[in-house]
Amino acid sequence: MIPVIIIGALALVGIAVAAIAFPLLREREDPDSVEIREDLDTVTDPLVELEGRRDAVYQAIRELRFDYDVGKVSETDYNIFDTQLKAQAVTVLKEIDALQAAEADTALNDSLEAEIAALRHVNGNGPVKTVPRQPVPAGGVAVNFCPQCGTKVRSGDKFCGTCGAVVG
Ligand SMILES: [Zn+2]
Repeated sequence: MIPVIIIGALALVGIAVAAIAFPLLREREDPDSVEIREDLDTVTDPLVELEGRRDAVYQAIRELRFDYDVGKVSETDYNIFDTQLKAQAVTVLKEIDALQAAEADTALNDSLEAEIAALRHVNGNGPVKTVPRQPVPAGGVAVNFCPQCGTKVRSGDKFCGTCGAVVG
């Protein structure tokens, strides 16, 4: 009885591998549609969808290896399928990387925009007022400006004539 069970199990594994591998092979014949897109409408998160495809490819690789080990698949067929599946795995992994990089970019842009908005807010309502520096008149007497109110004071004065601040 045991051999029958094993043969049945192997048949199921073979069907599973074929179900996973043949659509992959068929997809690869068309260079414009390397990716499987049938399930996109039902999956909301593309990263979850990609990880599901990656896991399916890994599973197919393991099952193919198993079939080869037990002699169900010839070495030639094994090499062909294994190459195809691993190429598919690389494609999916690259897509996952690209997707994660794009999401990181979006997060970075969001935080930069928030910082820029915060800076604009500070500049618009900030308490700091700078008194514009005025040049010393060419050839004239050295002139100071009151640090308190900005009024021009003569170099000899110790106090501002307008607000009384010490300027000496
Ligand atoms: Zn003053």
